[in-house]
Amino acid sequence: MAHRIVILGGGYAGVTAANRLARRLDGADVTLVNERATFVERVRLHQVAAGESIALQPLGQRLRPDVTVVVARAGGIDLERREVVLDGDAASDAGRLPYDTLVYALGSHAAPAPDDAVTLATVDDAWRVRDRVGELAAEHGTVAVVGGGLTGIEAATELAERYPAACVRMVSDVDPGAWLSHRAQRHLRRVFARLGIEVVRGSVTDVRGGAVRLTDGRAVGAGLTLACTGFAVPSLAAGAGLAVDDTGRIRVDGTLRSVSHPHVYAVGDAAVPELPNGRSFRMACATALPMSAVTGTAIADRLAERKPASLRFRYVNQCISLGRRNGVIQAVDGDDRPHRMILTGRAAASYKEAVVRGASWFSAHPGPYRPARTVSM
Ligand SMILES: Cc1cc2nc3c(=O)[nH]c(=O)nc-3n(C[C@H](O)[C@H](O)[C@H](O)COP(=O)(O)OP(=O)(O)OC[C@H]3O[C@@H](n4cnc5c(N)ncnc54)[C@H](O)[C@@H]3O)c2cc1C
Repeated sequence: MAHRIVILGGGYAGVTAANRLARRLDGADVTLVNERATFVERVRLHQVAAGESIALQPLGQRLRPDVTVVVARAGGIDLERREVVLDGDAASDAGRLPYDTLVYALGSHAAPAPDDAVTLATVDDAWRVRDRVGELAAEHGTVAVVGGGLTGIEAATELAERYPAACVRMVSDVDPGAWLSHRAQRHLRRVFARLGIEVVRGSVTDVRGGAVRLTDGRAVGAGLTLACTGFAVPSLAAGAGLAVDDTGRIRVDGTLRSVSHPHVYAVGDAAVPELPNGRSFRMACATALPMSAVTGTAIADRLAERKPASLRFRYVNQCISLGRRNGVIQAVDGDDRPHRMILTGRAAASYKEAVVRGASWFSAHPGPYRPARTVSM
């Protein structure tokens, strides 16, 4: 019988791994399970939130023809029996997918946020923001974006550029982009000022009654609050009994294989590689793509009784869009620490757009991966 590989998740990581495996393993039975039938370019969700439509390409068109797509939600993993349990049909045979090797690529969703806030981690989140922000802008209302990290910055600038009639406020307990070089932060401040984005420094306790409440008692009025306060991973891995870190990400070795269950691999946001130098990995497309390419090759090598190569990865830059006409590309060292060198303005916006297109293209055509240098998005 052909070796059965089931891949959970059809985002950047899952699609890349599936294509790599189908390309490397003649005759293997590769099945990809995803909760929706289309591929979502998640790195463009702030654009969707601001009213831009993005193509939702059927997964089948991004995958090699020998990959079987199952559109279903995975509800559990039976590690003993080596089966994935699909939601809805769990009791029947049709609801259980047997595997010999499992690749877990279920990505992440928004970290818990106050009830009255919306989030921006899935396309459904982005559509919710789009629907509310359009109405709000027509009334010259206020959007509060909570969180001065990458997603908050990209969302706030995108919304402010697209809806100049709306008031966009960023609420953050640290300076927006605090991890960037001084030059990059200066550029960020200039762009925020040009787009009229007001920054309120403070820690949020609650969102209610049309206001964001801060620990010091202040209240920031907002018709819509968008919480960009980080991502969390699905509880499926921990629930099944896989070894995870304290955030629930699957602990994997340099070949992306689970440290507790050798027939399971994990890639993308849901995985945390344990590399000899102890470096941690950002949840990013930039890390998901090389992880998935390496895991595809590693599985193929092990099945052919060859010694698999481990992931070698170094960061090169961080690319941040600031609306459609501006951006900042921050050069970083291999460990993601910023250099002085930055690229800004339209050139940076075009560079980021090229990288985003490149990521989408790569997942559909993962050719040989030689990971000496990797562009971070
Ligand atoms: C607004 C925004 C901007 C971003 N910008 C950047 C950027 O500029 N650069 C960068 O590097 N990264 C960026 N990221 C992060 C990047 O999108 C993620 O790191 C990347 O998508 C991770 O890929 P993944 O395949 O692990 O997860 P995902 O792309 O999230 O894919 C996971 C897939 O699994 C599916 N799934 C989840 N649960 C189930 C289930 N139970 N059953 C079946 N299917 C399921 C999901 O529907 C999805 O298709 C951004 C993220 C957001 C939200």
